[in-house]
Amino acid sequence: QDHPRPPARVGQTALRAKSVIAVGSGKGGVGKSTVAASIALTLRRLGSKVGLMDADVYGPSIPHLLGLQGRPGISESKRIDPILLDDDPNLFPMPVMSMGFLVDPSEAVIWRGPMLHGSINQFLGMTDWGELDYLLIDMPPGTGDVALTLSQAIPLAGSVVVCTPQEVALLDAVKAAAMFRKVNIPILGMVENMSGFLCPDCGKTYDIFGKGGARAKAEELDLPYLGGLPIDMKLRVAGDEGRLSSLLNQDDAARAPLDAITQAI
Ligand code: ADP
Repeated sequence: QDHPRPPARVGQTALRAKSVIAVGSGKGGVGKSTVAASIALTLRRLGSKVGLMDADVYGPSIPHLLGLQGRPGISESKRIDPILLDDDPNLFPMPVMSMGFLVDPSEAVIWRGPMLHGSINQFLGMTDWGELDYLLIDMPPGTGDVALTLSQAIPLAGSVVVCTPQEVALLDAVKAAAMFRKVNIPILGMVENMSGFLCPDCGKTYDIFGKGGARAKAEELDLPYLGGLPIDMKLRVAGDEGRLSSLLNQDDAARAPLDAITQAI
């Protein structure tokens, strides 16, 4: 679980995180942001100092999932003050940075390569992250641009590929894995999200999108399989209402698969 690396240096500033972990997917809508935020929250609950950077500039959903809003300020030392998730006095206040804090969510943002590159580097290097054990990065789906920018900016401990069990999603996950490999970001493993639906009424599990596809694909690609996260309506509702953190703090059943995934990382 510990991936010690020298402190990452971005330009003149040092991002003081022991391990930087990117969470990516081949396509959108597979639950990448939910998984990224949940892994960050789980690591935090286990006692680590964790930051979360939303690099999904096309659809920044992290602020919404965590119920965070506000505009990051600029500190005296000209650094960007991240927004803090400070919802529990027993937990480390989690610094979060997202394009969602800077642009109107309803605005369409068109990013050209150099702008994207610049904003990712600024988020990494100019944000006052403080001293962290882990920085989790929620990647935009698919595109290789951000992976390339990240790989050039900092040494990453690794990446996690999120997919659903459907064949099309798995093919996209193969592309995501190839993208990480191409830019020399080690892949820590694959997570199967929406891996069956446990009916709260009858207790039966329905494999809506099939099941086990990610495990088989991981084997085929010679990657670790980190675990599956079932379709959980409580998770969806908590995400929509910005209560992901309190759900995972309070609900053992919702937390169990995430604990297993996080421990496998
Ligand atoms: P992505 O980042 O891949 O676009 P999101 O994390 O934004 O996907 O998730 C898309 C939608 O699916 C959200 O409404 C989220 O609440 C829901 N969702 C994701 N994972 C699950 C899950 N395991 N159970 C129920 N709903 C989920």
